Amino acid sequence: MLTAIDIAKQVKQKKITALEVLERCLKTIKEKDAEIGAFLEVFEKSAASQAKAVDEKVASGKTPGKLAGVPVAIKDNLLYYGHKMTCASRILENYISPYTADSVRRLINEDAVIIGRTNMDEFAMGSSTENSAFKKTKNPANAAHVPGGSSGGSAAAVAAGMVPLALGSDTGGSIRQPAGFCGVYGLKPTYGAVSRYGLTAFASSLDQIGPFATAIDDIELCFSVISGHDPKDSTSIRNPVYARNFDLKNLRIGLPKEYFIRGIDGEVHAKVMETAKNLEKSGAKLIDVSLPHTGYAVPAYYIVASSEASSNLARYDGIRYGLSLKNKNASLTDVYKKTRGAGFGSEVKRRIMLGTYSLSAGYYDAYYLKAQKIRNLIKGDFESAFKKADVILTPTSPAPAFKFGEKTSDPISMYLSDIFTIPCNLAGISGISMPCGRHSTGLPIAVQFLSKPLSEYAVFDMIRTYEKSL
Ligand code: GLN
Repeated sequence: MLTAIDIAKQVKQKKITALEVLERCLKTIKEKDAEIGAFLEVFEKSAASQAKAVDEKVASGKTPGKLAGVPVAIKDNLLYYGHKMTCASRILENYISPYTADSVRRLINEDAVIIGRTNMDEFAMGSSTENSAFKKTKNPANAAHVPGGSSGGSAAAVAAGMVPLALGSDTGGSIRQPAGFCGVYGLKPTYGAVSRYGLTAFASSLDQIGPFATAIDDIELCFSVISGHDPKDSTSIRNPVYARNFDLKNLRIGLPKEYFIRGIDGEVHAKVMETAKNLEKSGAKLIDVSLPHTGYAVPAYYIVASSEASSNLARYDGIRYGLSLKNKNASLTDVYKKTRGAGFGSEVKRRIMLGTYSLSAGYYDAYYLKAQKIRNLIKGDFESAFKKADVILTPTSPAPAFKFGEKTSDPISMYLSDIFTIPCNLAGISGISMPCGRHSTGLPIAVQFLSKPLSEYAVFDMIRTYEKSL
């Protein structure tokens, strides 16, 4: 598979047509996706007409966009006008997007080809894609293992070489963790850098859209396209000023002691330290930092995220969206009960109950308010750490991809697989997962770079310099 950068270049130079690129991707999808299960739907028709339009643009001598002819897969929680969007849930099984998400619109404006929608955990709740109501997605590195989640379909599609680029969403790790499990790059941008307009809300104060790719240059290209102010998202950053040029020489890389604890896989630990040592060889300074409230991140996240989800998911009432089930002469309450009872899967129901409980009058102070206070402390931890360090290096996950069924009966153990990715969302900072080698089982291992808000480009530069030094 060519990189997105190479595809766009070759399409511009007329070395290859967008239609040829699309056909190659469709062929790979046909060969591989019956086994992998990354896609919920491939948009063959609309993708072909987009590719044709790009080719006509090039043929007529016009300069095409930055993503000329690049096929991009989108997670099935992003709206794309006239196409199905299900959030991998029965409750939205036949839902058609009434408009297009800002991020998807920006891709199309730069002449990308939207090739299909990818599998995910229902409403992005999960870490393995096993919560999809429709199908299993397998890890391309080993089919007995999960691809991670919730954006497991997007990660697997890129890792299997079916597409050069895919979008996912990350509320507590759903881009970085599956990227790490599948061995590709994944970026969770600074909160507010990419518009959430047209992203189905899970936990609005945590959700961000970001890319998956096989090369850091492609992550940068995609991020440069999808980011930017959008008046339709009130949390979108106006006039963002990005930090530039992290010089690897003398760059201070912080290793948080709370992230290198017992419980992390020995080989994962070794690979992360090897990456740290290599960075040091290139001139970076390794320093110890502390993020003292890390241990409270997972519990605080499950209160905040579930509270927001219970409110956001109240709209699926059997009246306004998708599925509607009723008996003859049913009351409104009966419609709600029947539709929501049949339409949502068990993890979604668990979150709605948890969130409703923690927001209820008698428990609000004890749970929701307390969780928000912890969130502030975690934000403060990072602010102090970034006074000492320019970038923080951690494992993306405590262990490589687990097997199907290994954690489904124990939600807490599933929740804990995001222990290193969740604090970044609570603090609103930028996080990127980078592949850093293989486990003895053959499964990919990844490191995560955490950095201040709006430092994405500086980190891309750092990673590029680092990779050249290897
Ligand atoms: N795995 C976490 C959860 O289940 C994070 C999901 C996400 O980032 N969307 O909530």
